[in-house]
Amino acid sequence: MINNKILKAINNNIFETIKKHSDELNIECYVIGGYVRDLLLNKSAPKDIDVLVIGNGIEMAKKVSNELNPKEKVKVFKNFGTAMFKFNNIEVEFVGSRKESYNQSSRNPIVKLGTLEDDLNRRDFTINAIGVGLNSKNWGKLIDNFNGIEDLKNGLIKTPLDPLKTFSDDPLRMLRAIRFSCQLNFKIHTDSLNGIISEKDRIKIISGERIADELNKIIMTQKPSTGFKILESTGILKLILPELTALKGIDEIDGQKHKDNFYHTLEVLDNICPNTNNIWLRWAALLHDVGKAPTKRFAKNIGWTFHGHELKGSKMVYNIFKRLNMPLNNKMKYVQKIIFMSSRPIVLSNNNISDSAIRRLIYDAQQDVDDLLTLCEADITTKNLQRFRKYLNNFKMVRTKIVEVEKRDHIRNFQPPISGEEIMSYFNINPGKEIGVIKELIKESILDGEIKNDYESAKLIMIKKGKALGLIKNEK
Ligand code: ATP
Ligand code: MG
Repeated sequence: MINNKILKAINNNIFETIKKHSDELNIECYVIGGYVRDLLLNKSAPKDIDVLVIGNGIEMAKKVSNELNPKEKVKVFKNFGTAMFKFNNIEVEFVGSRKESYNQSSRNPIVKLGTLEDDLNRRDFTINAIGVGLNSKNWGKLIDNFNGIEDLKNGLIKTPLDPLKTFSDDPLRMLRAIRFSCQLNFKIHTDSLNGIISEKDRIKIISGERIADELNKIIMTQKPSTGFKILESTGILKLILPELTALKGIDEIDGQKHKDNFYHTLEVLDNICPNTNNIWLRWAALLHDVGKAPTKRFAKNIGWTFHGHELKGSKMVYNIFKRLNMPLNNKMKYVQKIIFMSSRPIVLSNNNISDSAIRRLIYDAQQDVDDLLTLCEADITTKNLQRFRKYLNNFKMVRTKIVEVEKRDHIRNFQPPISGEEIMSYFNINPGKEIGVIKELIKESILDGEIKNDYESAKLIMIKKGKALGLIKNEK
């Protein structure tokens, strides 16, 4: 089968050069995987190119790269029999055909050289096992041993061979199935879905960072809830993010119920997607309520409460990130901060908004204050349209106030108007706790609106407090 779209796509330097060398060496080459899949799906400009070489992939990569751009270095992964180079910003990866066998405790297979068929058999899904011939004799010819094209048309994710074996051999494929289903809006075939359910426990041999990779890809889709619902229903989520599944369910005591915080969380995550591509803000949305499970209480006269869930939740982030080998740096701190502060704008918007409350919000959130409001807006999941509009409008007022107050008082990037050195030199004193006391008072007075955020006003407060602390002894 020949397809015009494909012929057009491979009509370029990269593929022509591969053809030349594979003909010369009499070795078959195929472009395979995501590139072919995305082309057939009419996705705009597929990115990376995966080339299957029925023979030595590393040698082929070197020859092709050397001709395309002799200056470019080829990265070789000897253990995997793969090599890659970049050309015109596209990553071209060459992999030698393989036949794999696995042992129980690792997803790293014992790899042997294999035929085209062997290699197609070890692919994860039928839609990823479609190859296109790159030698003269089969230029542009589609190889589709498992009816992947049919599955592409029907929107189906399906393993080429027995799902139980495919998933047990490499359990990462279970996450890939769910990720592709979410990215492409495809259904997972019933047999494959049942395969995931029965092999789910095998996920334990997958490293945290591979799991995080797939979670990140799900989080960055347009509607991540689709992926998380499948993760949950197959039982995988409980194994990789038990903090989230702990939010599932609705309890009822004395006729009082609370909402299902798991499904609420998924709604919040979906809601935030059109408004941000910041992956860390999306993570904050996913985890913003995790503190609710351990803080849930019922009191007779009050009903359900989740006191302190923001602090608890922000503290839980560390263990989650560590387990998934995610960065424990300022990205994590950002997620923690957004979660910790997630109720602050809500409290604000329910009252008459005072300038000092706005100044404190800006002071505490600093450059993240807009992101914080973006989360709060996504957090409105009420189905009552009137209430929805009211809450949204309240946050709009908070945003307007922030702009007004910031323009006047410059609280973002707050720098104390008087430095510690100046306090020491004015009172002629050594470092000591008085300096902190004075600086704190100046800051508080500015945030409370008692003085302006400028040098002169701060100096007056400094002198007054210095006197009260007895720092000026011989005043006439
Ligand atoms: P994308 O790059 O959009 O995530 P892709 O399908 O190109 O999608 P890659 O991870 O780049 O995914 O892998 C390239 C190809 O290698 C896949 O299409 C698939 O055929 C095969 N593959 C990748 N990972 C696995 C796996 N764990 N098990 C089996 N085959 C795999
Ligand atoms: Mg790829």
